[in-house]
Amino acid sequence: MDSLFVNKQPRLTFDRVINCNYVQLVKCCLCHGLVVDPVGCANCDRITCSVCIHNFHSTQSEPKCPYGCTTYIKSSCPKPNSIVLDTLKITCQYKANGCDAVLSYNDYTSHEIDCHYQLRNCPGCEQDIIKKDFEQHCDQCPYVSIVCDQCSSTFQRKDTDSHIVAVCLRVQLHQQNSQIEELKVKESEQQTKMDLMEEKLQKNEVFWLEFYNTTTRIRNMLDG
Ligand SMILES: [Zn+2]
Ligand SMILES: [Zn+2]
Ligand SMILES: [Zn+2]
Ligand SMILES: [Zn+2]
Ligand SMILES: [Zn+2]
Repeated sequence: MDSLFVNKQPRLTFDRVINCNYVQLVKCCLCHGLVVDPVGCANCDRITCSVCIHNFHSTQSEPKCPYGCTTYIKSSCPKPNSIVLDTLKITCQYKANGCDAVLSYNDYTSHEIDCHYQLRNCPGCEQDIIKKDFEQHCDQCPYVSIVCDQCSSTFQRKDTDSHIVAVCLRVQLHQQNSQIEELKVKESEQQTKMDLMEEKLQKNEVFWLEFYNTTTRIRNMLDG
């Protein structure tokens, strides 16, 4: 047995197994954990994790059996080992976060993918938050960035008050100023229109005045 090779961290530790009576049948000699995705040696019928044996062989020119057989021929997990694996009850890897689930050897992986007790990193405070509390946390976390619905600028939730006082009001003032500018432009346009109309009226007035003068003159001539 190649004693130099030991996988430091088993993927599945025995403290997660509630009812393990046949440890030797389900233990990987390379990582010393419960086998994950087990494969056997066709000679000795003993099993290892498929990742562990792959790593073990990657350093060897000729693949050896980690249990000491001179040649290694990979086989599927032998029946007795599978039967013991099927009886195991395994706790969820997120037990420390509050998950009480107890799972069979074949189900624990799919449970853990969806487990509500796994951690997620908050983009605001960068703390790990349990998945089931994540949404609520993000709705309240003072360090999460939010967008002001008034002025569209971004700031951390904790700065909301100071934003409204300092930045947003300034932005709103700026917006109001530009609205005032717009109004002024409109106003001067209207003024120009009014000037034109007045000019027209004045021209009309001159016309009518001349007309009146002419008719008066004609009438005077006729009367005279
Ligand atoms: Zn292993
Ligand atoms: Zn062997
Ligand atoms: Zn769980
Ligand atoms: Zn947070
Ligand atoms: Zn704002």
